[in-house]
Amino acid sequence: MGKVKSAYFCQNCGYESVKWVGQCPSCNQWNSFVEELIQKETRNNNDWKNYHEEKRSNRIIALNEIKSSEEKRVNTQDTELNRVLGGGIVPGSIILVAGEPGIGKSTLFLQNALQLTDIKVLYISGEESEQQIKMRADRVGANLLNKNTAASANFFLLTETSTQVIFQEIKKLKPALVIVDSVQTLQTPLIDSSPGSVSQIRECAAEFQRFAKDTNTPVILIGHITKDGSIAGPKILEHMVDTVLQFEGDRHYAYRILRTLKNRFGSTSELGIYEMTDQGMRGIINPSEILITQKEEQLSGIAIAATIEGIRPLLIEVQALVTQSVYGTPQRTVSGFDLRRLQLLLAVLEKRGGFHFGVKDVFLNIAGGLKVEDPSIDLAVLCALLSSYEDVPLNHHVCFAGEVGLSGEIRAVNRIEQRIAEAEKLGFEKIIVSKYNQKGLAKQKFNINIVTMSRV
Ligand SMILES: [Zn+2]
Repeated sequence: MGKVKSAYFCQNCGYESVKWVGQCPSCNQWNSFVEELIQKETRNNNDWKNYHEEKRSNRIIALNEIKSSEEKRVNTQDTELNRVLGGGIVPGSIILVAGEPGIGKSTLFLQNALQLTDIKVLYISGEESEQQIKMRADRVGANLLNKNTAASANFFLLTETSTQVIFQEIKKLKPALVIVDSVQTLQTPLIDSSPGSVSQIRECAAEFQRFAKDTNTPVILIGHITKDGSIAGPKILEHMVDTVLQFEGDRHYAYRILRTLKNRFGSTSELGIYEMTDQGMRGIINPSEILITQKEEQLSGIAIAATIEGIRPLLIEVQALVTQSVYGTPQRTVSGFDLRRLQLLLAVLEKRGGFHFGVKDVFLNIAGGLKVEDPSIDLAVLCALLSSYEDVPLNHHVCFAGEVGLSGEIRAVNRIEQRIAEAEKLGFEKIIVSKYNQKGLAKQKFNINIVTMSRV
């Protein structure tokens, strides 16, 4: 029996302290420290020596002796996931998938695991019973399993939370891919604190990290975060894992975005877009067509933005509603857009355009429940606001791409050719861009009418 030791952990960022402190020195959060029992004396050394025939040993090696493992990636059946991962799952890598509870992380990865019929996949769940998972698997894999009866033969399920038991089972099964749902439910017997606490999550993830590196088996850890990120879990793991994917979207809408936040094996600007259906997650090849709803009717307050999400061009509908304020303080409500950014744009319109938004309630919505970070949406937001303010519908064959500065200038945006090409593909007749983007456009020919502006 080792010595029992305790430490204090910031539940927000995972900072460790020997004594309790009121404010976290790392993330400045108040009252975030909780005592957790840790016991570090008896480390269990999971021995993976006989896991594979060729065991890995560490010795000095010349760089050109190392074979590039690029071609050995596990290719999933999901083109969106492959893209986000930079071309498939790298052997021995550890991938963290973070997202709010209930938006479909489990569904997506269960579905992917079922589709990987030629490798042995172990799905570990600490949240659902075998029956529940079977039901879900039947649902998401219904069309898949009928086609190929071998589909479920290589899919193994373990409902367990103790890492000790999990690793014993892993040793017996020798899976080629391990999926853990979720990392918050795991518990290692080496640490006394409860599952979901910072020290448990950290130690359990470390055990899986050692397993992944020693056996060259990829591991996918699913982790929950809340909307404000207040549950530490996944955040403290970011530096331990190779890849961090964030699964986001509003659970009331059908669309989900899988975003790369960190990737040691590929670009971090990749993005996958899914639609949640009865049969699970369906990758969307051409998202712009779905995101633009208004095409026939001419309504005020709607503008289309030519944005880039990740590295994919995406045309998004911006909806604004400006009404006379009936209360003393005018309301500003946003969905999918930054509230402070809206306030800034309103201030620009007030100061530079002389519009009196100070006495108006303003509601702004990005269609489809998407969250947009691309600043090029500014111009469309501005136009949607003005369209609603004046109650004049905009021509629905026009789209916008431009960032708006404090003095009302329209600034250039990146990848303008891609945006224009996408707008052209979707049948838009006119795109309004910054004057400062003109230089880069001189070389290329587009059929679409490009209008450039320098000021609001
Ligand atoms: Zn902290």
